[in-house]
Amino acid sequence: MRLLDRILMVSAIVLTVLVIVLTVLSLLSFRHFSIYTAERHVRSVAETVKVGLTESMINGTINKRQQFLARLADVPGVHQVRVARGPAVISQFGPGLASEGGAQEDVKKVLATGKEMFELIEVNGELMFHAVIPYVASDQGLPNCLQCHTVRAGTVLGAVTVDISFAEVRRQGIIAVILISLAVVLAALVALALLRRMMKPLSETAHAVQEVTSQAVGGNFAGRVLQRSGDEVGEIALNINRLMEFLETEISTIRTRVGQLMGHRASEGGNQLLHTTELVESLVEASQFKQAIEEDQTKLEIYQRLADMLRVKYDFKRFSIYEVAASKNRMTAMSIDGEPAATCRYCDPQVMIDANSCRARRTGHEVNAVGFPGLCTMFRPAAAGDTHICLPVNQSGSAGCVVQIVASAEEAELASLMIPFVSVYLREAGPVLEAKRLMEHLRENALRDPMTGLYNRRFLEDYVGALVSSSQRRKSPFAVLMLDLDFFKQVNDTHGHEAGDKVIKTLADLLVRNLRGSDMAVRYGGEEFLLVLTDTGAEPALKAAEKIRAEVEATKIPLPGGILQKTISIGVAEFPTDADTFWQVVKFADVALYKAKSSGRNRVVRFLPEMWDADGSY
Ligand code: GH3
Ligand code: MG
Ligand code: MG
Repeated sequence: MRLLDRILMVSAIVLTVLVIVLTVLSLLSFRHFSIYTAERHVRSVAETVKVGLTESMINGTINKRQQFLARLADVPGVHQVRVARGPAVISQFGPGLASEGGAQEDVKKVLATGKEMFELIEVNGELMFHAVIPYVASDQGLPNCLQCHTVRAGTVLGAVTVDISFAEVRRQGIIAVILISLAVVLAALVALALLRRMMKPLSETAHAVQEVTSQAVGGNFAGRVLQRSGDEVGEIALNINRLMEFLETEISTIRTRVGQLMGHRASEGGNQLLHTTELVESLVEASQFKQAIEEDQTKLEIYQRLADMLRVKYDFKRFSIYEVAASKNRMTAMSIDGEPAATCRYCDPQVMIDANSCRARRTGHEVNAVGFPGLCTMFRPAAAGDTHICLPVNQSGSAGCVVQIVASAEEAELASLMIPFVSVYLREAGPVLEAKRLMEHLRENALRDPMTGLYNRRFLEDYVGALVSSSQRRKSPFAVLMLDLDFFKQVNDTHGHEAGDKVIKTLADLLVRNLRGSDMAVRYGGEEFLLVLTDTGAEPALKAAEKIRAEVEATKIPLPGGILQKTISIGVAEFPTDADTFWQVVKFADVALYKAKSSGRNRVVRFLPEMWDADGSY
């Protein structure tokens, strides 16, 4: 029930009770007043009778008392006046008139007790106030009763019975009560109407405020409250409207701004407050994400974090993260369904060797195939109905990475809704990934020889600590091979410097081909190379060296001036058998190389302690 109805109902109940109580009280008091007035009236009549009879006695006209009483009965409102003699008067003056015998029970009782009696009776259907009032002998004043009556003062001389009509009094009383009640009812109705009039704006404003605020709780701030008065209630409406306007403009501004930050238009409808909060939360999370990836050491950690974000936060089960090679038209799968370095699963493998066949990579725009099957011809659905959304991660104006999300027909709609949120993360990740890739590239370049792509001496210096401690921890030896081309100066001299470079590059490629993943090739000097064969003792190292030597000897290098064949000399030493420091082992490998040169070149020589004189000469 609404507030106004409740107030009106309670007021109506209170006023009804008030009307009833007032009516009952008026009835009671009017009855009391009527009876009191009737009593006064009959007493007056009784006193008049007494005075009349006394005067008659004194004037000797007592015999005409019947006439006097009959005339009294004609007085308007007086119905009957009768006098009865008491026993004392009867015994002194005789029984008197027949009507004065006092035969009625009530008269007898009054004569016997001397106590007056009043009652309401009905005579011939008419309501009467019936009174029997005793005359008591008194010796007070002159004339007094005892002058004629030979009785003692206080004796009941007689009684007068007076009946006066009560019907008219009652009628007037009822009319008065009805009028009073009507007035009260009217007043109550007026009070109710006034109350309703006063309460209506309050109630309607309260109702409107309730509606507007409940809409606001649901994120809709468009509701307004009609200002119905200029009082406090009107103020409430005004302030609520101001508050709503403020919330509407401010939240819409926040939403638009956040939408701009997120790079997509804020959606209308729904709970705008919740939407905005969600957007702000994802922005905050994305910024925390950015902070986290900035502190990551390698780009691989960042890719892993991106994969975790897709898997854990957005519950994507199937996705690919591709990295586009900086200079070459190639892509590498960095994470497939959260597995690092897995092979491409949802695209034609062609994209790996021709990155431009990836639509997202080529256009730099989102490729959303939800509702557009076949948008990208490289997509390979795992099941019927599968679709994909590919998001390029821009780095320096083009797609440096591509994130592909694969969804079934049922998941597609939800996945589309998540894309703006995922895009925020990718936008944050883009520059950080770019910076990390650049740093890794610079570092890589600083540690590699540009001509051959092999590691340089600086890398070797950085690497030594880890190499030695790993070997010591695992109690596993490693071999160091020093290689130097034989009579290389002649190449430069005969075929020119460029030909010399080509020979060096050919040798570098040959070395890389001959090494395992855990081994390492370093361009140590101009045409001098150092190889580290991990977990390898001198014997297998000699075999590997021999293989390399033989391959070099057999390699035919085409030059503009004809085919060239070169030989190489190799010195081999072992850690920790030959020496317990890395650089000492390098020195010994160099000693062995010197030995190989001095003993005719194109050979592999293992270092022997006797090659190294105590004075350091060899
Ligand atoms: P040996 O058999 O004693 O080693 O004779 P060699 O002529 O090879 O002598 P050495 O190893 O001392 O020769 C080094 C020469 O390699 C000197 C230099 O002209 C040449 N060289 C060094 N670096 C480069 C390079 O990057 N390119 C070219 N073309 N030549 C280089
Ligand atoms: Mg040489
Ligand atoms: Mg040399």
